[in-house]
Amino acid sequence: GDIQDSFGIQESLSELNQLADTAGLKVVGSTYQKLSSPNPRTYIGSGKVSEIKSAIHALGVETVIFDDELSAGQLRNLEKIFGGDVRVCDRTALILDIFNQRAATHEASLQVALAQMEYQLPRLTKMWTHLERQAGGKVKGMGEKQIEVDKRILRNQIGATRKELESVRQHRKQYRNRRFSVPVPVVSLVGYTNAGKSTLLNQLTGADVLAEDKLFATLDPTTRRVQMKNGKEFLLTDTVGFIQKLPTTLVAAFRATLEEISESSLLVHVVDISHPLAEKHIEAVDKVLSELDVLLIPRLMVWNKVDKASDPQKIRLEAEKREDVVCISALNGDGLPEFCNAVQEKLKDSMVWVEALLP
Ligand code: GDP
Repeated sequence: GDIQDSFGIQESLSELNQLADTAGLKVVGSTYQKLSSPNPRTYIGSGKVSEIKSAIHALGVETVIFDDELSAGQLRNLEKIFGGDVRVCDRTALILDIFNQRAATHEASLQVALAQMEYQLPRLTKMWTHLERQAGGKVKGMGEKQIEVDKRILRNQIGATRKELESVRQHRKQYRNRRFSVPVPVVSLVGYTNAGKSTLLNQLTGADVLAEDKLFATLDPTTRRVQMKNGKEFLLTDTVGFIQKLPTTLVAAFRATLEEISESSLLVHVVDISHPLAEKHIEAVDKVLSELDVLLIPRLMVWNKVDKASDPQKIRLEAEKREDVVCISALNGDGLPEFCNAVQEKLKDSMVWVEALLP
């Protein structure tokens, strides 16, 4: 699509870098190569393979991540060349890891597990290599049989997971429209990866709108309890970020992971307003939100990284013209008190809304 077209190699690699970071990996370097067609055995050319292999040894690298999807054969060949303990994976596997960490509901976990198994199915080769190695390559036939058995087991698991997912969905449909009054409202941050959601979450600790740091307790890595000086409090929770280059096979898992936001009192849409594709990002997020069951939840838009924008003044003026837009710089703390006040105002709206629904 449009986003994809103007999405260059550098941007794609920087997004991959960010994703690795989110997955808890420390990135020590990146490289790319332009080939007229990928090498069928190793995806990249042999010179590049040697270059990466030297870097692996020099830097003690444990994982090599490719930005494009690799075949089972390519993954296996590269692991063989790079040696024993080096894990080779691709963007899809990395994103699946992140979704797996972030799946908060049963339904999301099932959807992610399903995507993981579907990804594994054509790549089941491990057993084959192990057997081959053990017997010095002599029991190839036996290894192949084992693969067929493994594939059958995996296919059965995929079928069972699909069924379970269906029944969980049916169950949820019955309950979806009941919103329970929660003692502390939940505010969910949504937006692209790299928009600054986790920076915002962390910076709020230092914002002087909060009562005390210790009340800003971490419930899980992605949720904070925010208590303001006026005594009001809310839970602020980060969600799995949108990704520009999301493999189509992961769309369902992504949406399922995002579905938990249907329980929130308020959605805060964080935008990197300094990004050249900010408009496109906003549209893409709005589109997905309109397809989830969240249309009735009040929203607030946050234009972040105003400090980095080419014309911050223009952006501020534009934001003033619009309702429901707050300008901030999560990095240096600009606009955070205004942000918290806007959240409070919006939450008042949502309380009115909840009351209006009561008989
Ligand atoms: P997330 O993926 O949405 O959680 O984004 P992060 O919070 O990890 O931020 C992504 C990158 O943007 C990090 O390098 C941040 O330091 C940077 N960043 C976040 N907020 C701002 C901001 O207000 N101004 C600038 N210049 N950089 C920011």
